Amino acid sequence: MICTFLDYKLEVEKGDIANQPDLDVVVNAANAELAPGGGVAGALHSKAGPELYRECKQLAPIKPGEAVITKAYNLPNKNIIHCLGPVYGKDKPEDELLASCYRNSLQLAEENSLSSIGFPGISTGIFGYPPELAVEVVFNTVLAVLPGMKHLKTLKFVVFNDDDLHLYESKLKDIRTD
Ligand code: ADP
Repeated sequence: MICTFLDYKLEVEKGDIANQPDLDVVVNAANAELAPGGGVAGALHSKAGPELYRECKQLAPIKPGEAVITKAYNLPNKNIIHCLGPVYGKDKPEDELLASCYRNSLQLAEENSLSSIGFPGISTGIFGYPPELAVEVVFNTVLAVLPGMKHLKTLKFVVFNDDDLHLYESKLKDIRTD
């Protein structure tokens, strides 16, 4: 599902964040050490190849809410932005830290003149953030930050299951302008 917001394109798709050839940059739900691990990080590192972790080691560790950018190696994108989401119930305030992830990732993409970005559901896997709470933070943050962006025009949420797809679709319907 696609909708327009001002002159930006917002999209949700059920799929694999490691298989998004039409996007300039994809976001990694990273761990502090920027190591391969499981979930999104595992998928991105295994497809990008071992060179990615070599670059990541120079940038780690990062703190909750922070984001860093690397090359994408064997992934079909220009770059990867790695951000560390809050562990739900541990890193506080979790809503502000999650908002920082999205804000910092969008700003990094803009600074690097990237025009399209893909986000997985940061913190909603191993880190335990309830998806229905996370999606509120995500849309509040994205809709507040996007209007300042000149290069960035397309934002795709890449979700992994039907429940998350429906959550994002219902938020997109609320802002539908076309
Ligand atoms: P975190 O540690 O920040 O919680 P995870 O990688 O465990 O990150 O999961 C974040 C979200 O991404 C979860 O909703 C999970 O189901 C989903 N996910 C896992 N693998 C992929 C993938 N390859 N592409 C897109 N989403 C994924």
